Amino acid sequence: MSAQRRLFFALSLPPELQKQVVQWRADTFPADTGRLIAAANLHLTLAFLGEVSAQKEAALRSVAGRIDAKGFTVQIDDAGHWPGAGVVWLGTRRAPRALLQLADVLRSHAARNGCYQNTLPFHPHISLFRAATRPVAIPPATPDWALQAKEFGLYQSIYERGRTRYSLLQSWPLPVLLT
Ligand code: ATP
Ligand code: MG
Repeated sequence: MSAQRRLFFALSLPPELQKQVVQWRADTFPADTGRLIAAANLHLTLAFLGEVSAQKEAALRSVAGRIDAKGFTVQIDDAGHWPGAGVVWLGTRRAPRALLQLADVLRSHAARNGCYQNTLPFHPHISLFRAATRPVAIPPATPDWALQAKEFGLYQSIYERGRTRYSLLQSWPLPVLLT
């Protein structure tokens, strides 16, 4: 049996936005809110694939390369807490259609390739804390940053020495739409 890798498609945060998010998180939430997600791990998941064989991975890479999606901007202007999942997150009040379409096409191809997709509606978000199970005060005024998506990537999630890190395996451009 070939080795399986834990994979997901995601948008990464440009370095400047990553810094702003980390600063805002430190200024806004007490350190004991939950388990801090490392700055380098901040991302917006498009489709979670789970443990995938080399064969399925190749099929999904090939599908990703054929997606004809354009770049888009996501306003990061919402925040919240899912106590059940223990996640404090940043998100958007108005997900652009292009983001929803990209996630949708990736998730449907994932499902067709046997990667179980949960049935909850897609709620684009950037997780800030995990294991945040106690009540969390979310400030009424959230930031309003622009996340410019110019590419999307396939990541491997690697758990070693008690820590999770992500490794970018491949990325695909989302060309700017010239109007
Ligand atoms: P850890 O699980 O070690 O705390 P993590 O959740 O960041 O770290 P993974 O579990 O490998 O690492 O998840 C990678 C990405 O996929 C994360 O954005 C995570 O929220 C998302 N994800 C994980 N499991 C699922 C799932 N069953 N359905 C949808 N998204 C998932
Ligand atoms: Mg996880």
